[in-house]
Amino acid sequence: MDTQTLSLLHDIFQEVQQKQDWKTALDTLFVSLRGYFVFDNVAIYLVDPQTDGMEVAYARAVGRGKTAEADGVWGGSVANEVIAAGRMIIRETKRESENANRMDLAYLLGFPLYVGSKLSGALVFIRFGGPEYSSLHIQMASLQAFWAAALIERRDLQEARLQLDSVQRQMRLQDDFVSTISHELRTPLGFIKGYSTSLLRQDTTWDQSTQLEFLTIIDEEADRLAHLIEDMLESARLQSKTLQFKFSPVRIEAILRDVATRINTHIPELKITIDQEPLPSVQADGIRISQVFENLFSNAIKYAPNSEIHIVMSAVERGVRIAFADHGDGIPQEYLPFIFERFYRVPGERTAKGTGLGLYICKQIVMAHHGNIWVESVLDKGTTFIVELPIDPSTDK
Ligand code: ADP
Repeated sequence: MDTQTLSLLHDIFQEVQQKQDWKTALDTLFVSLRGYFVFDNVAIYLVDPQTDGMEVAYARAVGRGKTAEADGVWGGSVANEVIAAGRMIIRETKRESENANRMDLAYLLGFPLYVGSKLSGALVFIRFGGPEYSSLHIQMASLQAFWAAALIERRDLQEARLQLDSVQRQMRLQDDFVSTISHELRTPLGFIKGYSTSLLRQDTTWDQSTQLEFLTIIDEEADRLAHLIEDMLESARLQSKTLQFKFSPVRIEAILRDVATRINTHIPELKITIDQEPLPSVQADGIRISQVFENLFSNAIKYAPNSEIHIVMSAVERGVRIAFADHGDGIPQEYLPFIFERFYRVPGERTAKGTGLGLYICKQIVMAHHGNIWVESVLDKGTTFIVELPIDPSTDK
């Protein structure tokens, strides 16, 4: 091999390797070598290990017959042959056409793609109207097939890496969760134990108002403990999809107003405003939907203390939308993609208590209704949670 060819290959290799995305890398590969090996279309067919079926993973038309042939259907049968035989196949096909021309004679060249040591698919080139493939062309094409297989392997490794990262993050969240939960469970339990032991002491007598105060604390802490345990069980049931939903026609605005009234009974100073247009009733599980609203209220109270809560309810195509806004500190953008994950809490100096289960529970409930929930937040301006529920989940998606 002369130095010029070597240097050319080196440059192409470098350019292809620098492309992050495997399809862009393939585009670069085929286009750079097209001056030395001419073809019209190329397609890659990969076997789906789950179904054993074959699908077109990549298709590109670079020459004549661009649009009509770009989808890769043309090479399916050669790809099947290549995969069955595990070796290169060359085939000439005469195509049925009313206007016979040279485009009707297709020259197909297929190569097996070995990813690792496994036969994972086939790469097929097509030339319309020739010329036939020379042995040098076959070598060039074979080089590209090797290269394509290496790029597919790189893609698989990148995907595996992403999965691994996500599993590692989950494991870290679980670890954090164990320490949070043990703290969260111990705190109310500590109060309950402390105040009841005090009340039971033989050597001291408590006046009635002190007794009442202690019993109130015990009662509230027991409620908190029950709530926490309920959240944990609920999130476990939602995750395992064993929670039953009871759908019936409900008026979302009535549910929201009920929750708001309940909250105002406990916190009369909390300012809640609700704007709404006439809304259709929706098929939903009213109790679960109240739970979503309760969680959103509770978060706004915790993370945007002293802020007014402004809710706008509107009708959207085949559904209703509830936008739930506070004017708190907001959430930094980099944490937004994670806040609906189980156990996730925004890191930082926040002192509010929590387990990272609330929004996860909200999201699971909304998804069980085939709805959608997302967040928009601006630092120092506030946070808005938006919930969309379809009128009838059974006909939606
Ligand atoms: P928890 O409140 O138990 O931590 P959530 O799942 O309800 O868990 O919320 C996840 C995180 O999202 C919280 O830790 C908090 O940092 C952030 N967050 C939720 N709601 C708001 C809000 N209204 N304003 C600012 N941050 C919020």
